[in-house]
Amino acid sequence: MLTVDRFDRPLRSLRISVTDRCNLRCQYCMPETDYVWLPRESILTFEETASVVDAFTSVGVDRVRITGGEPLLRRNLPQLVEQLAAKPAIADLSLTTNGVLLRDQAAALRAAGLHRITVSLDTLKGDRFRELARFNELPAVLAGIDAASRAGFASLKIDTVVMRNRNDDELVPLIEFGKSVGAEVRFIEYMDVGGATHWSMDAVLSRQEILARLASVYGPIAAVEGRDSAPAERFQLHDGTTFGIIASTTEPFCAACDRSRLTADGLWLLCLYARGGLDLRRPLREGATRDEIARLITTVWSMRADRGAEERLGAAAREPFIPVAALKRDAHLEMHTRGG
Ligand code: SAM
Ligand code: SF4
Ligand code: SF4
Repeated sequence: MLTVDRFDRPLRSLRISVTDRCNLRCQYCMPETDYVWLPRESILTFEETASVVDAFTSVGVDRVRITGGEPLLRRNLPQLVEQLAAKPAIADLSLTTNGVLLRDQAAALRAAGLHRITVSLDTLKGDRFRELARFNELPAVLAGIDAASRAGFASLKIDTVVMRNRNDDELVPLIEFGKSVGAEVRFIEYMDVGGATHWSMDAVLSRQEILARLASVYGPIAAVEGRDSAPAERFQLHDGTTFGIIASTTEPFCAACDRSRLTADGLWLLCLYARGGLDLRRPLREGATRDEIARLITTVWSMRADRGAEERLGAAAREPFIPVAALKRDAHLEMHTRGG
């Protein structure tokens, strides 16, 4: 059964945050000193998560991405992967990680049935990594990428958030690094999502600029045809190397958005920019059946009219989307809680 929203967008893809904790403090995501964490008892167990996923797959979801916070901080994560991988309705099971703990977990995640993996990597320079993420973990991330490239995933991607004057001189080295480890690199425009409290338009390197800079080094760049609902637009260099750009800030793609997000404590968010969501933990813990939860999901999705990034494009003076005080009052507004 396919469920569509008010703009005829189906519900196909679910991003599940398994923890709001993180072992890095990326400048574009967690630049503050203190954070308010979700209470431990509110975090869904793997069984609860698997039940919610059953409700989602019964109404058309067939792509699941595990994320966080840092998902590899969640104890015994391969057990959840195994439970999800056993569901025939899930055609695509992937995970996004910062890679710090990946070296020791890559093989177990693959063995548990994870199909694809994306590692976030913003720089290849050790001192800069520390500046951008507060911890000196570049060697661990590189070891994690190496382990992932040997673990036999169907695809390995590297996601880079590009910030002007911070890491925009590394576009070419990152593409070359991606080639060397068999990974496709995707450049993400710096977004003014909740949590990006230091965001400014001046720090955004646009899709257009990214392409121009790469073309000045590599020559003509061709667009790869056949974009579906994926947020990344793909391109090809002369030598056949492909890469992606996610232009959510300057050229958002909400019209085809089939994604929604589940926080670690069971709040279902219909858009990355949504200010609120539907609490699925409560009905679940009160004993609602799969079909009852599925009905809640279809009712709410059928009313969905979210197009957050497109609306942000129309904002007159663009500043950080959510002020720090509001983030302190409600951790659900944070990017690291909703999972990116
Ligand atoms: N901790 C994991 C990681 O970093 O891969 C998974 C969660 S993280 C919130 C998911 C993605 O969100 C990362 O690729 C990160 O780069 C991206 N992200 C976070 N804040 C962002 C921002 N302000 N603009 C663009 N992307 C952002
Ligand atoms: Fe960085 Fe991901 Fe942690 Fe955010 S959740 S601070 S993007 S590693
Ligand atoms: Fe989808 Fe919202 Fe992102 Fe637009 S801003 S692509 S509607 S999640």
